[in-house]
Amino acid sequence: MQAQSQIHVSAARTAGDAKQARFVLDLSRPLPFTVFLLQKPYRLVMDLPAVSFEMAQGIAQVERGLVSNFRFGVINESRSRVVLDLKGPARIAKAFGLPSVDGNPARAVVELEAVSEQAFVGQALQDVLHIGPEGERAEKSRLVSSVPTPRARQKSGRPVVVLDPGHGGIDTGAVSANGVQESVLVLRFAKLLKKHLEAKAGVDVVLTRESDKFVSLGGRVAFAQSRNADLFISIHADSVRERYVRGATVYTLSDRASDQVSAGLAQRENRSDLLAGMQIEDEDDVVADILISLTRRETANHSALYSRTLVGALEQSVHMSKTPARSAGFRVLKAPDIPSVLLELGFLSNKQDQVELTSKLWQDKAIRSIVTSVQRFFAKRGSLGADQ
Ligand SMILES: [Zn+2]
Repeated sequence: MQAQSQIHVSAARTAGDAKQARFVLDLSRPLPFTVFLLQKPYRLVMDLPAVSFEMAQGIAQVERGLVSNFRFGVINESRSRVVLDLKGPARIAKAFGLPSVDGNPARAVVELEAVSEQAFVGQALQDVLHIGPEGERAEKSRLVSSVPTPRARQKSGRPVVVLDPGHGGIDTGAVSANGVQESVLVLRFAKLLKKHLEAKAGVDVVLTRESDKFVSLGGRVAFAQSRNADLFISIHADSVRERYVRGATVYTLSDRASDQVSAGLAQRENRSDLLAGMQIEDEDDVVADILISLTRRETANHSALYSRTLVGALEQSVHMSKTPARSAGFRVLKAPDIPSVLLELGFLSNKQDQVELTSKLWQDKAIRSIVTSVQRFFAKRGSLGADQ
């Protein structure tokens, strides 16, 4: 068998009205794909093999009848995804592929039809359509959710720090006015930080993602648990509506946000899985629940200790926000047994921050401070004993 080159997606478009919609992807050659629907809010998910998307992200801002907008990106090494936000309940009327004809690109087509809420829950939501490479409907099946596979535990005796570069793949995170993507910025930063932590802080470091792929919030927590992490640091550089807000900020988990900006930030951050077309279970009270448990309280103490240590070290070298230690209900911080913080390096919505965060000088200073904070944390924690 001949090695096949990667499939390119060159364009996407929607047509239709409030009753029906047609969504078309232009492809360099036909491919197999899977489509299914999600609710709360209504979405259509289209799963493709690994492809390269060669269209601008801005294209996702279209609004056409049933479809309010769509996103696309990488889910993992072998899978890409397109997610359409729908204005109401719909069913998949047709899904098929078309070969390339007369110089026109090959296509993947999905047709949607508005249905009642009852019909949506009763039938439409159950259907998963697998379309073969020749465009035929290959099979129909039930939805199977994907769970990240934990890698084998490594044992070296050194503390394990899990760094969690936020977002990735279909979820780009914040994008600055001049096009810097949060997902790219924080991945680079985390890789650099790993190198320095391993060389200078006497810890082993693993990353929740090493490439531009999507990892669910629950998947990040599960990964840290599978690696027996002693410390979890989620790294972000988000946007907030309040453009004057700038500076590094360290967040810990709380069922009640410390302020308005934090509440809004956690709410947007927790939408990551939803943006990527993940099935979200109702877990409204999960943060409150886990705060009650004893383990959770001990872990919260350690998270607070690390947050203070990190703020103290960062203050020596980089610009901090007005209130650098804050709390909110971030889902990614909910491992009940791992001290966890979310570090906003700064805010891409702020011009000065955007300039600093992308400078090598700033990154070097921030990394030195984080290395110091990790050394101090494990030194203090060691002296407190195991059951503090
Ligand atoms: Zn973020």
